[in-house]
Amino acid sequence: MSKHPFSQMPDAAGYFGEYGGQLIPPELKQVMDEIDHAYEEIRQQPEFQQELADLFSDYVGRPSPIFYARRLSEKLGGARIFLKREDLNHTGAHKINHCLGEALLAKYMGKTKVIAETGAGQHGVALATACALVGIPCEIHMGQVDIEKEAPNVTKMKILGCTLVSVTRGTATLKDAVDSAFEEYLKDPHNFIYAIGSVVGPHPFPKMVRDFQSIIGREAREQFLQREGRLPDYVTACVGGGSNAIGMFTAFLEDDDVALVGVEPAGLGLDSGKHAATMTLGKSSALHGMKCYVLEQDDGTTMPVHSIASGLDYPGVGPQHCYLKDIGRVRYESATDEECLNAFMNLSRVEGIIPALESSHAVAWAMRTAPTLDRDQCILVNLSGRGDKDADFVARKLGL
Ligand SMILES: *Cc1c(COP(=O)(O)O)cnc(C)c1O
Repeated sequence: MSKHPFSQMPDAAGYFGEYGGQLIPPELKQVMDEIDHAYEEIRQQPEFQQELADLFSDYVGRPSPIFYARRLSEKLGGARIFLKREDLNHTGAHKINHCLGEALLAKYMGKTKVIAETGAGQHGVALATACALVGIPCEIHMGQVDIEKEAPNVTKMKILGCTLVSVTRGTATLKDAVDSAFEEYLKDPHNFIYAIGSVVGPHPFPKMVRDFQSIIGREAREQFLQREGRLPDYVTACVGGGSNAIGMFTAFLEDDDVALVGVEPAGLGLDSGKHAATMTLGKSSALHGMKCYVLEQDDGTTMPVHSIASGLDYPGVGPQHCYLKDIGRVRYESATDEECLNAFMNLSRVEGIIPALESSHAVAWAMRTAPTLDRDQCILVNLSGRGDKDADFVARKLGL
């Protein structure tokens, strides 16, 4: 059987086409290479695979189901909409998948502290959870703006026993938290490990996080085939850094008849200057140790980005997505804050499922697209997380 090139990505230097790599100082490159070697070794060990598989089933609650959103589909007319329910995972989102992988890897490598940044607080909660379970100290850096917006997650992180660092520099959001966490990591990179929260950063993180997340698409493809006897016509997911999307897309990359659509936050509108539509409006550049599309201002500095969903508020994007865009395998579109809120309320009231604001972007795309398609066509949406964390914010915003 011939292997499709997609399964061999990235190359040994961490490149997906021209994107990715390790744009970091030599000392750090050495540490990243150590992590890569350890990962490649550990992932072959049956004990590691078994431990991860057991945690996925008994701790996370996998496989997450696929749900046919009948009432929403019938209300819209056109294609049938299905949801991959990552919102039902322990901790309420897809992020637990890679956090367990990273925490286990840290344990196998004998690291003494796991460090990370968080945007919406979902990565922080998932990582603090995984570290509590594995028994390893955990330090989370979070922008002050996000801390105020995401109070429930902040409280959870404290209860779970992690050290929380409030970041006030810059726009005090996700990008600044990344910078701050990275500085702490650089103090002792041999004993610490930086658990990146998405498929971004220097090699091997885009590869590792993708591998841990690819369980989503492997399950979804099989589940969909089993229940419908065919594959979906469209598979869609929201794109911040791109981990839930790549986790969903990976199993479908070789299915040429399945259209893959990543949905970015258009914020207040693509021409408002207040968005985080990196794939749509960014250009090839460098950020956080990788080559990728970046939203930049005219003077070459990183653009302050905006999205109603903290978890999508990032001016870069995973290198594999950049590659998949360039070769035309994945289409990247966007949804505004307003469309996102509308999708959030619709899914809540028509199906009784409160989605994360991040995931609502993918739901918004499906709601916009379904009426343009026939009834025998199917859209599979990755519902990356649940909206409990956003409920108060939305209620205030809409005056409920
Ligand atoms: C963090 C988060 C995202 C965005 O991250 P990706 O790496 O793009 O997946 C999306 N959905 C939810 C629920 C999140 O918590």
